[in-house]
Amino acid sequence: MASRNGVLIAGGGLAAQRCAETLRRKGYDGPVRIVAAEPVAPYDRPPLSKGLLAGTVDEASLAYRPPGWYDDQQVELFIGRRAAGLDAAQRRLYLHDGHELPYDELLIATGSRARRLPGAHRFENVHLLRDLADARALRHALRPGAHLVVIGAGFIGQEVAATARSLGAEVTIVEAAAAPLGALLGDDLGGWFSDLHREEGVKVLCSTTVAAFHGRDAVEEIELSGGRRLRCDAVVVGIGVAPATEWLQGSGLPAGGVPVSSGGRTALPHVYAAGDAAMPFDERRGVHVRSEHWEAAGRSGSEAARAILGLAPGRSALSSFWSDQYGLRIQYLGDSRDGDVVEIDGAPAQRDYTAVYRRAGRPVAALLVGRPHALPAARDLIESGSQTLPATEQLKETA
Ligand code: FAD
Repeated sequence: MASRNGVLIAGGGLAAQRCAETLRRKGYDGPVRIVAAEPVAPYDRPPLSKGLLAGTVDEASLAYRPPGWYDDQQVELFIGRRAAGLDAAQRRLYLHDGHELPYDELLIATGSRARRLPGAHRFENVHLLRDLADARALRHALRPGAHLVVIGAGFIGQEVAATARSLGAEVTIVEAAAAPLGALLGDDLGGWFSDLHREEGVKVLCSTTVAAFHGRDAVEEIELSGGRRLRCDAVVVGIGVAPATEWLQGSGLPAGGVPVSSGGRTALPHVYAAGDAAMPFDERRGVHVRSEHWEAAGRSGSEAARAILGLAPGRSALSSFWSDQYGLRIQYLGDSRDGDVVEIDGAPAQRDYTAVYRRAGRPVAALLVGRPHALPAARDLIESGSQTLPATEQLKETA
């Protein structure tokens, strides 16, 4: 890298943080700058629906690094500033406030934002959950006895339901599909998630959509597609995320998620993308797809740093994520949509099992419930392509 404009990172989440850290760890001594739209330094998002919402974790502990780290590492933070446009030919990033920043190498790491439900967000008690400000507002609404309706039974909707329940709220989940996570896990295991919530006192209404919101400034009742009405004090819309990449309009990159090849390289020279904003190539499906999970965001941020420095890629890893609900650790590895058969090891009724998805006998994915130490064994199983399930004890307890 001849010039000294250095590495500029648009976006200030996990992928951005990991990229900056890897650059420094690998000895890069040029400028590293992070443009971060939120008014805080990069922080960890998963606790927003878990410990932070429950009040068991405080905001300060979410920061990836103590404030002094950025000065020590000479990583310059442009806090509360927003990338608004890109001129890749001139290697310039335009900010919303009219400033522009030159770069040698640019990483796009602006993540994703929560999808909005048409007609819902004019009401003051309808919440999304993507950032700290959202979590603070929702926490305030979750009083004991409050009636909370969660629209969408994805992982975030389910975690909010579980946390709200622990705070004494009366919770109803409304899900359009036949079962929570049915498209990912299949309806049988999706149904297990419905049962989990019902056992904890949550109403789970599947194959149902919202027909209307009733109320003036706040929603007082939600009318469902079948005509049923639900009273509510607060509503959470958890219907997935969309890439926060609309600012790339006119840059030569698509504004609906950035396709990347290895190391996060985009179609434009000196421009990389990582995390939720990026769409790596899925060899099996032959298309670019987004991951939207923590582990992939962190790994892809590091991989982009390695590519920027001209280093060989690190070891590739199976995609994985976790969720915490009712004190239960739920982990998922691989891609169950590749599977044609599911094998269960353990006791679903006791919230202690592993589901292994196979395709033509070969393990392609695993769901682990209540087995926090079993991930390495499940990973070995899928990576080795073994035909046989390891002994129950191994899937349960490998540390
Ligand atoms: P983000 O974390 O979204 O960070 C992007 C940052 O860029 C944000 O701060 C955003 O404000 C900023 N930004 C956006 N646009 C601009 C712009 N134009 N200019 C400058 N900055 C911009 N994953 C799991 O695997 N397990 C979990 O249990 C889990 N729980 C989650 C719980 C919640 C409530 C949420 C919201 C997510 C959860 N995730 C979980 C997903 C995981 O947190 C994300 O996949 C990960 O944060 C993505 O990292 P990222 O760096 O790509 O993007």
